[in-house]
Amino acid sequence: MELQGWQQGIGLRLPWLGSEVSAQPLQQPRWLGWSESVAQQLGLKPDEQLLQLFSGHNQLPWAGFAQVYSGHQFGGYTPQLGDGRGMLLGMRNGYELFAKGSGITPYSRGGDGRAVLRSAVREFLASEALHHLGIATSRALAVVGSSTPVYREEVETGAITIRVTSSHLRFGHFEYFYYTGQQQQLEALLQDCIEQQFSHLKDAPDARAQWLAEVVKRTATTVADWQAFGFCHGVLNSDNMSILGETFDYGPFAFLNQFNSGYVCNHSDHSGRYAFDQQPGVAMWNLTKLATALSGLIPAEQLEAALASYEPALVQRYLERMGARLGLVEPTPADLGLLADLLSQLQSQQADYHLTLRQFSQLDPNAERCPLLGGDEMQLWWQQYQQRIGVITDVDGWQQQRAAANPVIILRTHLAQAAIEAAELGDNGPLERLHLALTRPYDPQPQDHIYCQEAPAWSQTLTLSCSS
Ligand code: AMP
Ligand code: MG
Ligand code: MG
Repeated sequence: MELQGWQQGIGLRLPWLGSEVSAQPLQQPRWLGWSESVAQQLGLKPDEQLLQLFSGHNQLPWAGFAQVYSGHQFGGYTPQLGDGRGMLLGMRNGYELFAKGSGITPYSRGGDGRAVLRSAVREFLASEALHHLGIATSRALAVVGSSTPVYREEVETGAITIRVTSSHLRFGHFEYFYYTGQQQQLEALLQDCIEQQFSHLKDAPDARAQWLAEVVKRTATTVADWQAFGFCHGVLNSDNMSILGETFDYGPFAFLNQFNSGYVCNHSDHSGRYAFDQQPGVAMWNLTKLATALSGLIPAEQLEAALASYEPALVQRYLERMGARLGLVEPTPADLGLLADLLSQLQSQQADYHLTLRQFSQLDPNAERCPLLGGDEMQLWWQQYQQRIGVITDVDGWQQQRAAANPVIILRTHLAQAAIEAAELGDNGPLERLHLALTRPYDPQPQDHIYCQEAPAWSQTLTLSCSS
């Protein structure tokens, strides 16, 4: 194995954070996806040696490392979770490379340690899609497919996503060491996280409190971005919350089609705990669980102050992004009503969220009647909106700015599904084309382009669940 540029990473510094593991190789590995922009950050090429490493046939001079964590799942505390189907391979240029789907570990809890092609491809595409929409996310370098059979509702094939992020620490790591009473480890973990990931804070007098405030702010920012772009995560358990505030651990996620504030993408989520409009509240709930885990290390007033900064940060970010989409200069919380009224119009008229907002970039903002959606209420909204934005003199410039803020290509579930079905039959073309389009979501497209259509009726029967 060519070792230049590889480092072992966190398992070397904090061996009690998990267990050394080795991969169970996938049969007949093949490249299914490759992100050139991630590859350049890491200095890697998709050669045979790398394919052998990622698929478990070759290894670095150190063992893989599976981490232990715990977390609140659907509101209840699970005392021990961990990397049950993946491991850190090593680091390059400050990024951890994690093979998801590489086989069983001490944390598999009876699972098979595998990921199936459809879930590996969905994580790969989503990581690319969110990144290119300007939403913080873990990245994905590659997807490796195989002929290894994996049993779900039916037989599928195993695959591995190579997930890339500077830290795989989750809220649940801190919960694990808190609830097991391992105070020294909890403190060492926090110290390591600040030194390695938040190094700008390490010499600050109240570094821990500032660190938590920053975790809160990053989380608020990412959740606001989800709300602005119609992204539903699906499983916002505290073990799926990244300490870096990145979108993390993709499972039954979905982008909205028609706007539906109560949309639940995860068919295993019977109570709608992780519905689209619950995400801001649930992320805050998870932050309070993180704060509890740190209650012995950060004074109570500072914990409370950090948590109190969540809502203003969320609102501010949401206003920035929605303001850019609709052309609201210097938006303030007073604009929230205007935004909410538009969303309720979209919902009652069953309008597609993304297409309708994209159409904003082409309309005449000075038109007397609303060129989008019909009805008296919409007309009333239009008048209020025009009062807010004033008369637009440079309409071309206004339209260009709107187009740059309203994506035309969205990773809709049915688009991913079509690419997955082709890849399962050995045709990678649709996946490659969709991937490329997702890296340029704002580029103008012909109106009849298949990627720019409303979701077809058949796609409403696609179900997404935790089993992947
Ligand atoms: P998730 O729903 O993806 O957040 O996973 C919750 C927990 O289940 C984590 O500890 C995972 O590592 C573990 N897990 C999920 N799928 C599998 C699998 N196929 N085999 C073993 N562990 C799994
Ligand atoms: Mg998880
Ligand atoms: Mg997962």
